[in-house]
Amino acid sequence: MVHLETDIFIIGAGGSGMYAAIAAARNGAKVIIADKSMIGRGGATIMAQMTTAAALGDEEPDHWTMHLEDTLLAGRGLCNEELSSVLCKEAIDRIREMDDWKVGWARKNGKITGVGAPGHRKPRCVYVDFLNTGPAVAKCLRTQIVRNAEVTRISGLLITDVVVEDGVVVGAVGFNLADQTPVTIAAKAVIIAAGGLTRLYSRNSASANMNGDGYAMALRAGAELIDMEFPQFFPIGHLAPRLVGMDPIMWDPFRYKLGGRLRNAKGEEFVHEYGGQDEGKYLTTRDIISYAITKEEEAGRATSNGGVYLSFEHLLEEELRSAFGPVIDRLAANGIDLTKRPIEVAPIAHYHMGGIKVNSRMETSVLGLYAAGEAVGGANGANRLSGNALVEAFVFGERAGRFSAIYATGKQRGWSNKSGIRHLDSLNNLISCKHSDDPEHAELGQIWAELQNLMWQNVGVLRTGLKLKKTLLRLRSIRENLEEVTPAKGQAFNLTLQDWFDLRSGLLTAEAVTLSALNRTESRGAHQREDFTETKQSFERNQSISLDRNGSLNSRFVTSKNFSELKNAR
Ligand SMILES: Cc1cc2nc3c(=O)[nH]c(=O)nc-3n(C[C@H](O)[C@H](O)[C@H](O)COP(=O)(O)OP(=O)(O)OC[C@H]3O[C@@H](n4cnc5c(N)ncnc54)[C@H](O)[C@@H]3O)c2cc1C
Repeated sequence: MVHLETDIFIIGAGGSGMYAAIAAARNGAKVIIADKSMIGRGGATIMAQMTTAAALGDEEPDHWTMHLEDTLLAGRGLCNEELSSVLCKEAIDRIREMDDWKVGWARKNGKITGVGAPGHRKPRCVYVDFLNTGPAVAKCLRTQIVRNAEVTRISGLLITDVVVEDGVVVGAVGFNLADQTPVTIAAKAVIIAAGGLTRLYSRNSASANMNGDGYAMALRAGAELIDMEFPQFFPIGHLAPRLVGMDPIMWDPFRYKLGGRLRNAKGEEFVHEYGGQDEGKYLTTRDIISYAITKEEEAGRATSNGGVYLSFEHLLEEELRSAFGPVIDRLAANGIDLTKRPIEVAPIAHYHMGGIKVNSRMETSVLGLYAAGEAVGGANGANRLSGNALVEAFVFGERAGRFSAIYATGKQRGWSNKSGIRHLDSLNNLISCKHSDDPEHAELGQIWAELQNLMWQNVGVLRTGLKLKKTLLRLRSIRENLEEVTPAKGQAFNLTLQDWFDLRSGLLTAEAVTLSALNRTESRGAHQREDFTETKQSFERNQSISLDRNGSLNSRFVTSKNFSELKNAR
């Protein structure tokens, strides 16, 4: 076993975790940042290829309060206004700070340039050319932490649990993926920066390590989650033809920049039929377009692959080349010529608006436990605007690092010889359990496939009470029986132990999403109920969810505190 000690321990090294590490270290803390993947190379941050939103106002007048108004409007009444306002205001500082760190924001006439996106009234989405934003951002933050002597980086460490004693966080427990060595970390504060949950859906834009670990860890540690019924479905995820090595959501900026047309299998434009004002304007938000495409599919007007067409055929080759730049050659390498044929697109699970409930210092309800990035819920309400997720990772990461370091100053670590014993025992039991000769790995794989299909079919873009209830029962039963499924034999590079823990988190998180979706008997933003199609004033409330001692989830609706003075701040 390996034991480590630090002031601040950060779970997850995407944009939010790395920013938290930088901020904690510059506020005087010693930091360990760990990732089950490679530091700064796993999760969503490095996959994001497009934009990050901030009201810089460099090219044309803009103000963070206008960004806030757009965010609140898109959030359909459910944003935690305090978090949204922090997000929009401090986005500017973070983008400028990263500019100082030479991230490489695209510029015109020497000024950082921004593009428009649906729901943003100003062209405030900054980027790194061409489709390079995520990799550039990840590299920039990696460089900062590599240079920082106060930050220790650990790749390939899967954290299974946050350790809490007498209501206070004392550290965390996990194991080294390469050889299954248990690892304990004593810390004064822990930050969960473990990203989202979209791997729970069979159609997703995620990497394999986004299975809701952070949400499940927070629940088990005694923290609350909020608005779990709101995974975001990205409407025009790439469907066909085959596209290798490119972001499945890459079509978005080109669509609104160039006026890409969405048509059903009959060749008709349809978004306006569902309340979107799309034709010629391309301003319709993600929730409405996802709904419209799913309804077209349901009505039998989908393409043979089950999506709709996105066409750029009305444009000249020169226009396409000037907008797509070198991307046009990467498309050609995939056999895609946009002047000759449309591509097919359909919704995919992409992001999570819900998450761990925090205040604006990123504190959860458990003393010493913080959260950051996509793991946090509330800032984007029922629907997120393009570009608000990366910036959420930077802003909330910086805050979590700063406030946790302030909290840790002058404190002693609470870890004792007995800390984490319960978690270590169950980890050791799993490592040393008796295996049958069955191919257990396949069994874990089958459960994953069932989970993803259940979530896509029944807890996806369109939901009904009946399907949600059925799914909830099935998820509970699989979760209750997971102990009987064991990882395969062998210690070196045996990833089935990871599969087991991924499933344990995935099942609990999926159950939280399903239960919340069942309880919200209305339609709002990304949550669309076919049996309750109206948006109801009485549901303009957040839903909070927690785990009781018996391992059951309980949910309740709460009225979030709105900060009316923010509306007058301009
Ligand atoms: C394909 C794609 C494109 C996107 N494009 C954009 C865009 O253009 N603009 C925008 O604003 N947003 C975009 N997003 C969303 C945005 O990228 C994410 O919301 C944001 O990067 C999340 O950052 P994060 O640090 O919270 O999480 P992540 O970057 O996902 O990092 C989380 C890290 O935690 C690690 N981890 C998880 N569980 C554990 C565990 N148990 N133990 C140890 N480590 C763990 C993971 O390995 C991962 O490295 C996109 C997302 C995707 C998937």
